[in-house]
Amino acid sequence: MAETFDAVVVGAGVVGASTAFHLAKLGGLKVALVERDQVCSGGTAKSCAIVRTHYSVPSNTALTVRSLAMFAAFADWLEDDEAESGFVRTGYLIIAPEGDFAARMRANLALQTEAGAETVIVDRAAARARHPLLALDDAALIAWEPNSGYADPYLTTTSFVRAARAKGVVVMTDTPVFGLIVEGGQVRGVRTARGELHAPVVITALGPWTAALARGVGLDIPLEVSRHTVLTFRTNAPYARTLPVVKDLCTANKMYFRPATGGVVLVGTGDYGDPIADPDVMDETVGDDFVLFQGGQLAHRMPDFAAAELTAGWVGAYDITPDWNPVLGPVPGIDGLTLAFGFSGHGFKLAPAVGLCLAQRTLGQEMDIDLAPYAFERFAAGNLLSGAYGVGSIS
Ligand SMILES: Cc1cc2nc3c(=O)[nH]c(=O)nc-3n(C[C@H](O)[C@H](O)[C@H](O)COP(=O)(O)OP(=O)(O)OC[C@H]3O[C@@H](n4cnc5c(N)ncnc54)[C@H](O)[C@@H]3O)c2cc1C
Repeated sequence: MAETFDAVVVGAGVVGASTAFHLAKLGGLKVALVERDQVCSGGTAKSCAIVRTHYSVPSNTALTVRSLAMFAAFADWLEDDEAESGFVRTGYLIIAPEGDFAARMRANLALQTEAGAETVIVDRAAARARHPLLALDDAALIAWEPNSGYADPYLTTTSFVRAARAKGVVVMTDTPVFGLIVEGGQVRGVRTARGELHAPVVITALGPWTAALARGVGLDIPLEVSRHTVLTFRTNAPYARTLPVVKDLCTANKMYFRPATGGVVLVGTGDYGDPIADPDVMDETVGDDFVLFQGGQLAHRMPDFAAAELTAGWVGAYDITPDWNPVLGPVPGIDGLTLAFGFSGHGFKLAPAVGLCLAQRTLGQEMDIDLAPYAFERFAAGNLLSGAYGVGSIS
């Protein structure tokens, strides 16, 4: 016999976990969180989990400022003394070259201050005082965010799930969802490997896998998937875990780097990446050419890394929408269904606040941050949330 819930959340990455938790916390709903694999086994597991407020879309900054407040009081917010996000408040430096990017960055800093972020322009000496390993000769403009940093994606997601369970959320892992049940323009639940789950509210948080499920109910969603490689490097001296996160807009692939466990630096890219047709058939090879290229860019920014050793590398998929910002909301023609997808390589930091706001909207409560800009219809209406730095996850 089918089980019945008030709401079903599909996908136990950081977005689904946060959403399920907030539905239970704010509304006391009977919620099922359904995951085909294990908790935090999708894109979230590959995430660099950098939390920065620098954006050119003001609502992204507002969501991150809200998330930062949650990271700062994580156990209290989750009402669980054991909850941990691994958040380290290192601060964040963003570097722009001479030209367009510097001008846009200056304008964006004003937007961010209005959206509640603390951010200031600093000169090269001040930046080096915070991060002595940096060579900054080609940096035309540098901004500093003292409250930003990085977290641990696995700890964050599993903490949301643990706290959700404590509030009664039923967590079903190893339970693929095969399809959405829709009758008369209303979602009625999902079909899973364990049978049907009935609910008047279904929220999908499936990252790159959203298109497959949406297609089953006739929805053609604007979503591309691309692979991105993350590398870690070590040099003679351990890379201190409190060194600021750095975003380098002087590089071709919008490189960023941050400290990681074991005294290494973790390096990623914020560019388009390599397109892939199917997230389940992703080439996970870390290419030598890419390692050399990225290692060279890193050594340019930090000369101490000229003879660094590669210690690890992995590949993850970005779920990309046409404007590099997520869709968060209902879809036309199917009442009760909410899609949360297309985080375009920058969804970790948004997830705590997105889960909160999705739950608030589902419960008919006022949202802390209005999700209206992230409507599905914005693409057809031409209301894109395009960022100031072109293609890429900086948005
Ligand atoms: C390499 C990399 C680096 C990144 N770095 C950052 C960063 O520094 N900062 C930042 O803010 N963001 C970053 N991101 C982006 C961020 O990690 C993602 O936007 C975020 O984790 C997406 O979470 P999600 O819950 O939407 O998706 P996912 O974590 O992908 O979760 C989707 C879940 O759905 C499950 N699923 C799929 N199909 C089904 C089905 N049919 N039935 C049931 N379950 C199903 C999957 O198994 C998966 O667990 C990065 C991403 C990558 C790949």
